[in-house]
Amino acid sequence: MHSLELRGIGMTSQRTRDRLARRLARAGIDDPRVLEAMAAEPRHLFLDEALAHRAYEDTALPIGHGQTLSQPWMVARMSELVVREAPRRVLEIGTGSGYQTLILARLVPEVWSVERIAALHRRAAERLRRLAAHPVHLRLADGGHGWPEAAPFDVILLTACASELPEALLEQLTEGGVLIAPLEDGDGQQWLTRVQRQGQGYEYQRLERVRFVPLLEGVIR
Ligand code: SAH
Repeated sequence: MHSLELRGIGMTSQRTRDRLARRLARAGIDDPRVLEAMAAEPRHLFLDEALAHRAYEDTALPIGHGQTLSQPWMVARMSELVVREAPRRVLEIGTGSGYQTLILARLVPEVWSVERIAALHRRAAERLRRLAAHPVHLRLADGGHGWPEAAPFDVILLTACASELPEALLEQLTEGGVLIAPLEDGDGQQWLTRVQRQGQGYEYQRLERVRFVPLLEGVIR
């Protein structure tokens, strides 16, 4: 019913998503697997009906509880950084709507994702059950603790911004593993950051300026 209505106004059409993928390519996303995934997956099903018509604009949109579905370019960019590592197991902190999780499921064999807000976690779980390329592992928890029983991970991706990286997350990386996260500097600026585990140490690489909601502690039931 719902999707029929949307189809009626052309929102679910392949052409709309192809146009988004072309726009992302022009904006510098060049991994064909990422562009393919973004052209294939229905972002409009991750938004409330009232916002669904804006799903293929390159903009962040609210998903309730003060949280946002990241801008498509940001999802594409982070996905590109993830697939570059050719990971087998990826842990995402901040499931949110589940859209980034869905894209990851197309690109990575094992996806684990943690969300701290119960309502978002439940809704994402329902969508991903229907849509994900293969089952993903979801948990309602404070992602600052990672997912110790499932560790280590080749890549850990944060979709919320930390001022300091939780030690538990760094410890759950494989040797050579990579963490990708927005990190806040002393001036309150957020930077997308790549951190690679190397022996006893970690190598930090600052990428571009970004804007994310904050990483918060505790669980909201
Ligand atoms: N990738 C999501 C982005 C959602 S915004 C999407 O595409 O929709 C970031 C999400 O991180 C929010 O849902 C927020 O509740 C969640 N979050 C913030 N701090 C967290 C924490 N400590 N553990 C788990 N999730 C957290």
